[in-house]
Amino acid sequence: MRPANSVFGNLGTTIFTVMSALATGHGAINLGQGFPDDEGPDDVRAAAARAIIDGPNQYPPMPGLPALRQAVAAANQRFYGLPVDWQKEVLVTSGATEALNDCLMGLLNPGDEAIILEPAYDSYRPIIEAMGAKVVSVALEPPLWALPLEKLAAAFSAKTKLILLNTPMNPTGKVFTRMELQSIADLMVKHDAYAVCDEVYEHLVFSGHAHIPLMTLPGMRERCVRIGSAGKTFSLTGWKIGYITGPEHLMTPIMKAHQFVTFTTPPALQSAVAFGLGKDDSYFAGLAGSLEAKRDLMAKGLREAGFDVLPTDGTYFISADFRPLGFNGTDEEFCRDITVKAKVAAIPLSAFYGNPAAAPHHLARFCFCKQDVILTEASARLRAYAARE
Ligand code: PMP
Ligand code: GLN
Repeated sequence: MRPANSVFGNLGTTIFTVMSALATGHGAINLGQGFPDDEGPDDVRAAAARAIIDGPNQYPPMPGLPALRQAVAAANQRFYGLPVDWQKEVLVTSGATEALNDCLMGLLNPGDEAIILEPAYDSYRPIIEAMGAKVVSVALEPPLWALPLEKLAAAFSAKTKLILLNTPMNPTGKVFTRMELQSIADLMVKHDAYAVCDEVYEHLVFSGHAHIPLMTLPGMRERCVRIGSAGKTFSLTGWKIGYITGPEHLMTPIMKAHQFVTFTTPPALQSAVAFGLGKDDSYFAGLAGSLEAKRDLMAKGLREAGFDVLPTDGTYFISADFRPLGFNGTDEEFCRDITVKAKVAAIPLSAFYGNPAAAPHHLARFCFCKQDVILTEASARLRAYAARE
């Protein structure tokens, strides 16, 4: 029999699915895969329900409903002062996952190089490789995950087509600073490169930090596409509504990719997200504030259980070093052990690296977008586990 595609034929199942299945199998609290345990805002869901009944329910326009593209353009202006032409510069996708695929398919040629910063979200590498392009990875160092500027500069070459930048960053919770973004921008100009900016956690940023889209820096408007996700912004991860904003010359090939990936996205969910993006500032501030309190609760619980807790300034995630608990195995073994014995699931950080030998193996990622009682119970279970082991 002939081999399947060399990238996907050799790929395992994503760690998020693996750990969620293990959590279910062992009746564990699932702090692995990142999803909230509430149902999302009532008014946004009511808007979707109304739109399903009222229709239309047939294929919406390929780039997205005008109402949502207008709302995405307005949100760019409102939150970042970015003027955006909703007709030429916005595309609605079935989640940020599709958006990432569309961008990489639309921009990469075989032989191009794409820079990723590790630890990196697990969908980036296989899609880049499936395009016949080469992944060039630059590792950020725990516990502070600073951007190693010399290594980054060395990663750029004449073949660099783009850098994939995720800020706020999964799994580290790092929010890139203006200085770091400026260094990236300088290298992009020097090497005539683009950036695909995965900004799905744009509204999940905690006190003392601000999300800065790379696109807002001088010279970057024409070189960046930025990706948002209603899943994160409205705590509706199952909806899979994403959106891309970028200059027309980049959006045109990206839309061509989209037309053959999904073509379009369920219209009722699009209208509800259009409504959601128009919610007032208190909604967005409330979301970040509530997650920040959960970050603090989880950090305290992990610390009390004996972990060394790493800082996290945004996203759903907090990482912790489990070595002080006396566990001597790998991060994957640790995450399995706590799922089975403590009945709390987490994600091993090494899953976010292409080369396991280059990955840290002492960190676990915990998802804290859960009800406070769940976080408190998970912390108590981890405390009891640490005392027992
Ligand atoms: N990028 C990052 C960094 C993520 O954590 C996620 C997680 N869901 C995605 C993209 C995909 O988002 P969506 O669910 O909208 O496809
Ligand atoms: N982004 C989510 C996480 O990092 C998972 C999404 C998925 O399961 N594909 O946990």
